[in-house]
Amino acid sequence: MTDQGIPLHEAPGPSMRPSIGGRSHLSRRQALGLGLAALAQPLLARPAVAGGRLAPPQSTARENDPFPLGVASGDPLPDGFVLWTRLAPEPLSRDPNAPGGLSGGDLLLHVEIAEDPLMQRIVRRGLARAEAAFAHSVHLEVAGLKPGRPYWYRFMTHEAASPIGCARTAPSETQGIDNFRFGFVSCSNYEQGYFSAYRHLAAEAPDLVLFLGDYIYETVQPRDKPSVRRHSDGEIPTTLPGYRNRYAQYRLDPDLQALHAAAPSLAIWDDHEVQNDYAGEWASNFEPPAQFLQQRAGAYQAFYEHMPLRPSRCLQGAEMRIYDRYAFGDLVRFSMLDGRQYRSREACYGPPYGGGHVVTAQQCPELIDPKRSMLGAAQETWLYDGLAQSRARWNIIGQTVLMASLHDNHPGNEAHEWTEAWDGYPAARTRLLDHIESSGVANPVVLSGDNHAFWANELKREADSPTIATEFVGTSVTSYGPPYEQVAKWLPENPQVKFFESRKRGYTSVEVNADRMVTRFQAISDAADPDAGVSTLASFVIEAGRKGVETA
Ligand code: FE
Ligand code: CA
Repeated sequence: MTDQGIPLHEAPGPSMRPSIGGRSHLSRRQALGLGLAALAQPLLARPAVAGGRLAPPQSTARENDPFPLGVASGDPLPDGFVLWTRLAPEPLSRDPNAPGGLSGGDLLLHVEIAEDPLMQRIVRRGLARAEAAFAHSVHLEVAGLKPGRPYWYRFMTHEAASPIGCARTAPSETQGIDNFRFGFVSCSNYEQGYFSAYRHLAAEAPDLVLFLGDYIYETVQPRDKPSVRRHSDGEIPTTLPGYRNRYAQYRLDPDLQALHAAAPSLAIWDDHEVQNDYAGEWASNFEPPAQFLQQRAGAYQAFYEHMPLRPSRCLQGAEMRIYDRYAFGDLVRFSMLDGRQYRSREACYGPPYGGGHVVTAQQCPELIDPKRSMLGAAQETWLYDGLAQSRARWNIIGQTVLMASLHDNHPGNEAHEWTEAWDGYPAARTRLLDHIESSGVANPVVLSGDNHAFWANELKREADSPTIATEFVGTSVTSYGPPYEQVAKWLPENPQVKFFESRKRGYTSVEVNADRMVTRFQAISDAADPDAGVSTLASFVIEAGRKGVETA
């Protein structure tokens, strides 16, 4: 058993120093309850609970529990990952100067990493910093571990321990792996249901979870519309404190906590992490860009504070880079995209249409302007270069909105396009498909969210041209789906769509090996039932080296 400190990877500086004896403004009650290292405890003290005598973590919230938001891991590399928690003894505190009920400086926590779920074979012990500037969240970069295996971890104060989470290192790029299992999820509107989809995906203990956007909803369900449960503040956030509390509300959910504790994740955002249907600096409510960028920065910071992201991702001015690629042996490479931050304005933006609306190219020539982009020029170049250089067997693009074209041709009329999805950025989609084809990238598969429906689609330039890639769209975790009958009517004119179902909530499970990728659409029985069951709605196989998708 080794017992080495964990490198914190934080530049030392006055603003980053832990506040020992003086700068922390915890009340005495909180100080006693939390037993945090900031309060005149020697920094290198071992936790009183070490040595296997720790009481099992409690799953129900306790008074003064510093860990009511649970734990998470993310961004797996072959030798490590990021570990997350956030200290929030009063998770929904409405005091903007005391997020989570804490004010004052940074605090230090003990952290343990073990090779077994009972935390008996400890391989690392050390200290992690909960940064006051980021609502006392921890983003601990851990390195030096063995590739391709699970580890278990927990955070501790002198008096409390967090739940135990399971993280996994990625296999090394040269390591042959037989099999990789992951799940993807999107669109979990708290007010529209319980997160049973998260619970059932957690029970599968996948190697990785992809969050494909709309992890929170900034919206509030109108009082005259149905809802299952309510955001406690009943407000649409527009500032950092408001967004922080929205994330805290979601992270109090036991099913969401279970999923984060079960597997590492990669997370990208869609629109609802900031504002419905925004695009780049363009607000859907026509707020001036300078003002909207301030709101966006608050929302982006709250996303950083609540996700297991590397500190290098944190906001730089008004920008936060979240797009990146991640390798899992030589088997899978994920390119995770940001389809919001660098987006061109929606086609024919202007009152009354700030967000998604239906246009034709004739009414709105801007729609087909080749200068418009979903990803922005820099991210497009980065993506095309990555696809061209990849030697992975499967090349998966994780992104947020429907990529396949969907025509709702009115008889005798031109195609009507939905401006929010890739149909609203047709030149950018053609560029991407051209690059996928010309790069010869192996087994390209696109995974999408946003749509609140399951889809299996073939991606092609025109309806009668060859298939270039396959797209799977996962349904929402809870968010109400689009009207089934209406979309189903369009399907005969859209042969690229192989499967569509908008009446089910759930998640998607994927198992991939050298020969094939099997995708299962998992439907929960009822999002209004906190104990909902799960069943497989449909399964699809992609054979390596073949384009298209077949029902399993
Ligand atoms: Fe959504
Ligand atoms: Ca969305």
